[in-house]
Amino acid sequence: MEDMNYKISQRAASLSPSLTLAIDSKAKAMKAEGLDVVGFGAGEPDFDTPQHIKDACAKALAAGFTKYTPAAGIPELRSAIADKHKRENGLTYKPSQVIVSCGGKHSCFNVIFATCEEGDEVIIPAPYWLSYPEMVKMAGARPVIVETTDKTEFKLTPDALRAAITPRTRLFVLNSPSNPTGSVYTPAELKALGDICVEKNVLIMSDEIYEHLLYDGATTKSVASFSPAHFEHTIIVHGFAKAWSMTGWRLGWCAAPEPIAKAIDAVQSHSTSNPTSFAQKGAVAALTGPQDHLPIWLAEFDKRRKFAWAKLNATPGLSCVNAKGAFYLFPNISKTGLKSTEFCAKLLEAEKVAAVPGIAFGADDYIRLSYATSMANIEKGLDRIENFCKTLVK
Ligand SMILES: *Cc1c(COP(=O)(O)O)cnc(C)c1O
Repeated sequence: MEDMNYKISQRAASLSPSLTLAIDSKAKAMKAEGLDVVGFGAGEPDFDTPQHIKDACAKALAAGFTKYTPAAGIPELRSAIADKHKRENGLTYKPSQVIVSCGGKHSCFNVIFATCEEGDEVIIPAPYWLSYPEMVKMAGARPVIVETTDKTEFKLTPDALRAAITPRTRLFVLNSPSNPTGSVYTPAELKALGDICVEKNVLIMSDEIYEHLLYDGATTKSVASFSPAHFEHTIIVHGFAKAWSMTGWRLGWCAAPEPIAKAIDAVQSHSTSNPTSFAQKGAVAALTGPQDHLPIWLAEFDKRRKFAWAKLNATPGLSCVNAKGAFYLFPNISKTGLKSTEFCAKLLEAEKVAAVPGIAFGADDYIRLSYATSMANIEKGLDRIENFCKTLVK
């Protein structure tokens, strides 16, 4: 055998391996051994995709809708998405400004890939969704992480945004409601951040995938909607994964100013081509069909959220801000004296509870708990977390 030189590209070599993987695989191994592990790691709703969406997909499949579609998605779906933005957000996009991709994650990648390059800076508030910085690095640009804490409910202040902007800043990544914190910016807060981006001519990638998952009367508004200038500076990322529980379908979209949409279309046409043809028919049904699953899911999420939030704040050593969106809570563990990786490893070992260390999201004093799991699991898991914390805090 020749000596092989498996040289790894700079782009691939620069990526951080998933910090959550070690705990996740340990939890899975423990489960496989038959141990009673409670998992709070879920990044997806625990509800089934609504039946009418599955039916529309099955019908398309049976009818032979199994060939290539236009790379950016079927016209019917791009129109339905444009209609959604008109109806719900008051935004006027032409279908040509909408690009359907293989998940919201893929849409984020496309947006960053099409707009950022060597020398560019991308401002990402922490705690962040863990893929953003890695995507920025893959595009050759530099992630500029700006920390926030629970003191501001994990919201970036306008002053902090302004201070982070340099002549090299290309993109600002906004995600409200947030994964991992569940935090929701008010419309006024969103406008203030958007105003700065307009003034400084910085593009905003607004990841609005949790738009519909709001509690306690919280409201949100797309940052694109505050003025024509805000519209021209914003690229919306959205998808079907969360509000329609379609994570495995791999369907998301972006809505962007025309030149950016064109560039993304070109990128996609040479990488994945179209998202799965028959899945797109299901997505049309998701947007145009009944939405009555949503209030039912929201009521269930809200019940769990309220219970978990109260219980966490009654647990010695923990404190948790009231998160009004998505399906995550992000308690502060600093009073336990442990950092997040050690906390989660010991928690799994001692109490068989799997949580995600905050360091994966750039916040080592916190852990992420998803309440996209049954109330019975939440009760059992939080009791165990309480037991664990009692051993740490006198
Ligand atoms: C779930 C999620 C997405 C998109 O996920 P896909 O499964 O790729 O559609 C995008 N952004 C955030 C913050 C998410 O949590």
